[in-house]
Amino acid sequence: MSGLMSQLGLKPGVLYGDDVLKVTSVMTSQLFEYARKAGFALPAINVTSSSTALAALEAAKDARAPVILQVSNGGAAFFAGKGISNDGQKASIAGAIAAAHFIRSIAPIYGVPVVLHTDHCAKKLLPWLDGMMDADEAFFKEHGTPLFSSHMIDLSEEEVEFNIKTTAKYLQRAAPWKQWLEMEIGITGGEEDGVNNEDVDNNALYTQPEDIWEIYQTLSKISPYFSIAAGFGNVHGVYQPGNVKLHPELLAKHQKFVSEKLQTGKEDPKPVFFVFHGGSGSSVEDFRTAISNGVVKANLDTDLQWAYLCGHRDYITNKIDYLKTQVGNPDGANKPNKKYYDPRVWVREGEKTMKARVIQAFDDFHTAGTL
Ligand SMILES: [Zn+2]
Repeated sequence: MSGLMSQLGLKPGVLYGDDVLKVTSVMTSQLFEYARKAGFALPAINVTSSSTALAALEAAKDARAPVILQVSNGGAAFFAGKGISNDGQKASIAGAIAAAHFIRSIAPIYGVPVVLHTDHCAKKLLPWLDGMMDADEAFFKEHGTPLFSSHMIDLSEEEVEFNIKTTAKYLQRAAPWKQWLEMEIGITGGEEDGVNNEDVDNNALYTQPEDIWEIYQTLSKISPYFSIAAGFGNVHGVYQPGNVKLHPELLAKHQKFVSEKLQTGKEDPKPVFFVFHGGSGSSVEDFRTAISNGVVKANLDTDLQWAYLCGHRDYITNKIDYLKTQVGNPDGANKPNKKYYDPRVWVREGEKTMKARVIQAFDDFHTAGTL
């Protein structure tokens, strides 16, 4: 192998700490640092089941690319099963932990490095993050690594001061485990997991460089393992083109502002790790502009939900006459239909179409072939 796995000494499977980030010297910069310099980003794939996780891993294997698998709060609850109560975030905590153990055990045979992440955690969901971090702490005591590579805290709906202060508190807890924390500033429009920002004022959609600097200054004193999802007009979900316009070039202004404050100049012109939220439906050009300005992670959810459905939809549409009864189809009244309704057949069709869409993301983000 001549790609980044051998260059960085990465092993297949779930990564944590220095392997995800960091920068012990110029020669041994690791995954995110490497991505930022080399000009690619890792797609973050929302998974809700073993099937969707495997579709993403298979795509990473075929594209020879590192990948981020993440569970949202609702996705984690789904992993635990919709038939169970989510009182006190019980299902979302147990589901995320179950997903983590599943991905940890299966990822090595796919031969790709995986960043194991959890998605948006708003203020009212903080008990979910607390529960997952309790599991991280216990796992760290036993294995020397946290259970998850990284988490996301999303207090972008709150006052900026509260957002930064609370994010700092969580980063403090994660720091001894070298666990990554992603935070969000500015408002991302659209609707996701019950947070609806469809009517929000346009100005609030664009983060200011001063805010980025304040976050950078506060968090970098605690730990280098953090990234920022800054608003540059992003919208969650896919909508008809409307008033909101993406301005990923704004990220360049943030990088310049921070590097001038740090006086890192040419040595480190892009000191901030940025994350692209609400990526579904965005143009390849917008992604690439964002990546060239220090985006190392780009979330994709809605487009993948659609891609996963398409395989199932087409299968059922095309085979409908073989799916009406257990026995009897156009080939004969006594012909069994078992081979058509076996879940391994029709679930697999969704995995194939989802995998194809993930591979497209690897191509779009210049991640394909990097291993
Ligand atoms: Zn977001």
